[in-house]
Amino acid sequence: MSKSQSTSADGIEWDLSDLYEDHEDPELKNDMEELVEISEEFREKYKGKVEQEELGPSELAEMMKEYEDIYELLAKIKSFAMLYHSINTQDPDRGALLQKAEEVGTQTKNKLIFFELEWQNISDETAEEYLRSDELDHYESYLRHWRRYTPYMLSEREEQIVESLQTTGKEAFKRLFDQTIGKTTVKFEYEGESHKMVLDQALSVLYDDDREKRKAAADAVTQALKEENPLLNFIFNNVVQNHGTICQLRDYPDPMTPRNLDNRVDRETVDALMEAVEENTDLVEKFYELKKDIYGYETLYDYDRYNPLPGDVPEADFEESKKKVLEAYEDFSPKMKEIAEKFFENNWIDAELKEGKRGGAFSASTVPSVHPYILLNFTDKPLDTITMAHELGHGIHQYLAREQGALQQSTPLTTAEMASVFGETVLFEKLVADVDEPEAELRLIGDKLQKDFATVFRQVIMTRFEQKLHRARKEKGELKSEEINRLWIETNQEEFGDAVELRDGYGWWWSYVLHFVHYPFYCYAYAFGELLVLALYDMYKEKGEEFVPEYLELLKTGGSEDPKDLLAEIGVDITDPDFWQRGLSVIRENLDRMEDLARETGKI
Ligand SMILES: [Zn+2]
Repeated sequence: MSKSQSTSADGIEWDLSDLYEDHEDPELKNDMEELVEISEEFREKYKGKVEQEELGPSELAEMMKEYEDIYELLAKIKSFAMLYHSINTQDPDRGALLQKAEEVGTQTKNKLIFFELEWQNISDETAEEYLRSDELDHYESYLRHWRRYTPYMLSEREEQIVESLQTTGKEAFKRLFDQTIGKTTVKFEYEGESHKMVLDQALSVLYDDDREKRKAAADAVTQALKEENPLLNFIFNNVVQNHGTICQLRDYPDPMTPRNLDNRVDRETVDALMEAVEENTDLVEKFYELKKDIYGYETLYDYDRYNPLPGDVPEADFEESKKKVLEAYEDFSPKMKEIAEKFFENNWIDAELKEGKRGGAFSASTVPSVHPYILLNFTDKPLDTITMAHELGHGIHQYLAREQGALQQSTPLTTAEMASVFGETVLFEKLVADVDEPEAELRLIGDKLQKDFATVFRQVIMTRFEQKLHRARKEKGELKSEEINRLWIETNQEEFGDAVELRDGYGWWWSYVLHFVHYPFYCYAYAFGELLVLALYDMYKEKGEEFVPEYLELLKTGGSEDPKDLLAEIGVDITDPDFWQRGLSVIRENLDRMEDLARETGKI
């Protein structure tokens, strides 16, 4: 595998052997065969029994356990295939394995789908009787959640057809997107030197202090996206249309409904969140006006959004980042540090840059009998330290929630960012506490605010964009890139008001956003998570030490409860608009603090 650039994370590669050795591992082959067998046995044993109410509560519990075991084996195979592929998306063997795992997954799901359907078809009274029995306690929330999809389900045969065709439909387009973005290279000249890099690396230049360099990189990103656009546009149009078709077949009232159901939140809660955020966009505008004054620029452009404020923050290499992040976690909870350490000691992290490696960063929970794995693209920028804290937050959360079992380990997206963003906040507080120069504090708070804007405001804006995109595709048919560009610019401009000018070229920048392709309407969950965490951290400051065990309990719950119920346990009501406003007030306080520091240091 060829290296794209040398960084301090060279050699930091994960060891996936806790899952499987490689694509030729005989155990992997055995497991795939076994999976097909045991799902067939499961079907023979139980088909028709739930619908005909032939099972007592303890037998249904036994059935759930067997179902969970099958699910875990499938998740193990699929996790490995995904992780193995993610670090070299150009390798045909890895691509083939991913495809194979997809197919085995579909076969398995087709064999098991009867259970979900039968459970959804029994009467409310019968379902309630089961759910009230002690034997099913452990699976109650899970089974209850399934019932919510009842109005949107198709017949068993139709479900099988839809599921089978997605392998060559939505799933194929996702892979095509990954491969297209993975091979996209960005080239630009700067100060007489030619630069050639992968897309992610070029995007990270937007955090560079050098304005001319940022501009050159931004223009080159635009150029690269423009060149790939015919294919990317085709992928987008098909993915959006695929989503629309599914919504139509299932009678979803709105393209966001399936996401909200998966997130286990209602539309009202999401609307309350999005509206609260949009009512506060003056914060973004005010911040960028301040940034403009600090720099003495006449106009701020799209390439001036992410570069840090002036002031020294030393670039942290991989080892230093690791040290800082672990210390921050330790300050909050030694238990969390202990778990975070395992990721480094046991090679559960892949951080080096590689050509063909998937962009961005993530933590994959895999299965309870193994442990999570983290992917980073570590570029030696200060932001990479924050990303590390973020992904470790996910990793710790997933690690703690293993006790809920394979079906209920994963949280819905809404609470999925709860630990990751909390980890970032813990790191931020530690960094602020460690500086004594007001200029350094200004820089840290400025960085944090820019991050908050990207996490809260930008994600709400992206969700609005997606709403418009899906609506436009439905109403107008296949969309030309120029139309999508216009939607993108106009929606983004709402966030920045008059403070930032988005140039025409920025119009092409929707086309690399992975979430739009892989996880439609995912983005608001980031805003949900961030504002939730700001409020939770406020509670920690108020309550002190006693908050820590309560918080760890929250993480251990994983996905075994709805966010609303889970958070009610610590006195939070997410249906209350004031709750979202509380998180936004913390951002407002930070912005005021930043303005004071800018005055104090004579920057404005
Ligand atoms: Zn995250």
